[in-house]
Amino acid sequence: MAPPLTDGHKVLIQALLSRGPLPEEDFHSIFSGVTGKNPANHQQVFNDYLLKINRELSYVNCEVRGCRNQNDGNVHYGFVNNVADEESKLGTKYSVPQIAFYRAIIEAIVQDAAAQGSISGIEALNVRLENQVQTGAGSQSQDHPSTIPAAFRNFSLSQKEKTLEELTRDRWLYISVDDRVGLGIRSFLDLRSWFRSNDIPSCEVCNEAAVKAELCPNENCTARIHEYCLKQRFSQRRAERTCPSCGNQWGLSIPKAEEVDEEDEPNPVQTQPPLASRKKRLRTGEASRASALSQPPPDVSGPRRTTRSSARLS
Ligand SMILES: [Zn+2]
Ligand SMILES: [Zn+2]
Repeated sequence: MAPPLTDGHKVLIQALLSRGPLPEEDFHSIFSGVTGKNPANHQQVFNDYLLKINRELSYVNCEVRGCRNQNDGNVHYGFVNNVADEESKLGTKYSVPQIAFYRAIIEAIVQDAAAQGSISGIEALNVRLENQVQTGAGSQSQDHPSTIPAAFRNFSLSQKEKTLEELTRDRWLYISVDDRVGLGIRSFLDLRSWFRSNDIPSCEVCNEAAVKAELCPNENCTARIHEYCLKQRFSQRRAERTCPSCGNQWGLSIPKAEEVDEEDEPNPVQTQPPLASRKKRLRTGEASRASALSQPPPDVSGPRRTTRSSARLS
């Protein structure tokens, strides 16, 4: 039998229990406090520590995992519940229609073909709970008005607003300063295997789900790369700024909201000028892709790449 957890292991577990997912920096400093070792220089000790904790937590279908918050690119550590159903993940705190509301929002976000990683506050309040009615098979996509529970039909706007607030406070969701609703760190942590089983497109660099990501400028290519992965990849000395999937040139855009420059008619450029002199671009959508193209923009009138509309939280 493995030796029991030491006080040091327990301190880490307690910190996550009481404070929820922690930024890597905080989690590392707690680790340093209990072991006297900096994880940056003692990666193996750190990994062994987590391994030991997770061996014990596996008895309760739980593990501690590091995961990037795709909203800001920062790594966080938190508990992951390995029980499959969302009801148990969200705990008993939320009612059935509240959970349906959460699921509908998550689905709307991950199905966004532009991979913005968020939907507007208005869109969030307008998601359809009806689509979340479960059949025996666990999921369905057609409406069956006669079988929609009254609790779903009667879920009011103010209940939705209150639920949004609660889910945001609990970090299942995240609301940006410009009122866009995205996944909170707990969702990024907890939905990792769900992303995989639902074929949410993954990042070409890190292979994690690309919920909030940049799209390849090549219209015919479905590659997605996280903004932070792009930066890291392209900052490597003399790295080719090309798409790993199609080989086309991939300019590094600057997707910060405050740097957005509303251009109605972006000029396609033949080659990418140096970063500093490059025009600021729209964060997502046609403009950013068209301006980053190395060829003239193709017909942009047709439907875009779509993600699987079958992705369902079930
Ligand atoms: Zn990535
Ligand atoms: Zn590509």
